[in-house]
Amino acid sequence: MTIRVAHLYPEYLNIYADRGNIAVLSSRARWRGLQLEVEAVTLGEELRPGGHDLLYIGGGQDREQSLIAPDLAARGAAIRAAVEDGAAVLAVCGGYQLLGRFYRGRDGEELPGAGLFPLETVAGERRMIGDCLLECELEPGVRQTLAGFENHAGVTRLDDGAVPLGRVVAGFGNDGESGFEGVRVGNAIGTYLHGPLLPRNAWLADWILERALEHRTGEPQKLDPLVDDLEASAHTVAAARARSRGGRY
Ligand code: GLN
Repeated sequence: MTIRVAHLYPEYLNIYADRGNIAVLSSRARWRGLQLEVEAVTLGEELRPGGHDLLYIGGGQDREQSLIAPDLAARGAAIRAAVEDGAAVLAVCGGYQLLGRFYRGRDGEELPGAGLFPLETVAGERRMIGDCLLECELEPGVRQTLAGFENHAGVTRLDDGAVPLGRVVAGFGNDGESGFEGVRVGNAIGTYLHGPLLPRNAWLADWILERALEHRTGEPQKLDPLVDDLEASAHTVAAARARSRGGRY
């Protein structure tokens, strides 16, 4: 079974080793006898309707965001249709911001967004940098923690009624005030967390793979557990760092 992934703008949006998330998804799929077929989709290239089970986009500096934003915004309808059709999305930091309605950078330029996520982002005076720890509940009653690293000037405001990815235990999160981080729309996840994120949060990698596989097969999916000792200790270290120093300017 092949899981089809569209990696959006890999040469522009890939800071803090965000492409490492693809490597994690590939390995965890392979260890279950599945294959990840990753297609890079960049400026002016077609995103085939219904052609992907997972869309992935990493983070980047304002300059790189301004180079791809018009192209990404023009794909807004296609991306929203893919999510309505059940495709999974993982969007990190700069990519997360540009899947909202817009990102206004420090220079005041307003970059158009794809309009998938119910949010807007405006760069603030100070960068929110450091380790971050969230408490998430992607499945009712199943609470899990997510540990990563954030570095953003962007202050993201979710619309009323929007569902955040998690509650901030330590760190800044979307705006350094609301106590929430990221966003979720169906199987689409947006987050400020770099690291890369998935090596230290194996449960989220599997959740994303399951949603992508459900899109591919049309059947409910539950992946067999793996022995994640290394991933678990990486998570513990990252969580401890966030608790000790996250959320401080
Ligand atoms: N350039 C954006 C900001 O500063 C996103 C940064 C990032 O992707 N780490 O907020």
